[in-house]
Amino acid sequence: MIRHSCHALNMAKRGNFPIRQSDNENCQFGDFSNPWNFFSLMMREDSIVHQWMRDRGLILSDLTCPTCEKPCKLKKRPRKKDGLTWMCISKKHEFSFRKYSFFENMQYTFQDIMLFIKGTLDGQTLISISSMTGKY
Ligand SMILES: [Zn+2]
Repeated sequence: MIRHSCHALNMAKRGNFPIRQSDNENCQFGDFSNPWNFFSLMMREDSIVHQWMRDRGLILSDLTCPTCEKPCKLKKRPRKKDGLTWMCISKKHEFSFRKYSFFENMQYTFQDIMLFIKGTLDGQTLISISSMTGKY
């Protein structure tokens, strides 16, 4: 009986927090079954979240200007939604940082959209997810 209690106590102490990915920049989608992995990554600076998303092909890593066919570079634009835009080297054409992605034309932050997707995949109700993301 005592042994069982100790085992139960150890299990209670263990939880999911201590076994989260400390190297959350290398988290994979499967690591999000532990919610600490998801939240610790999404709470990092935007630049780390952006890089994580770029590394997984969720947003572009590079862009060729569809008008002049010259390469584009990321340019800081603090007044824009994500603080960045793509600008072609001729500096004539500027595009959303979210160009050609699932996130293009969405007004919410990447983190809120990812939370919404995670909630949906976890089987939460629409109202629960909306409440959790602060959109309801
Ligand atoms: Zn261009």
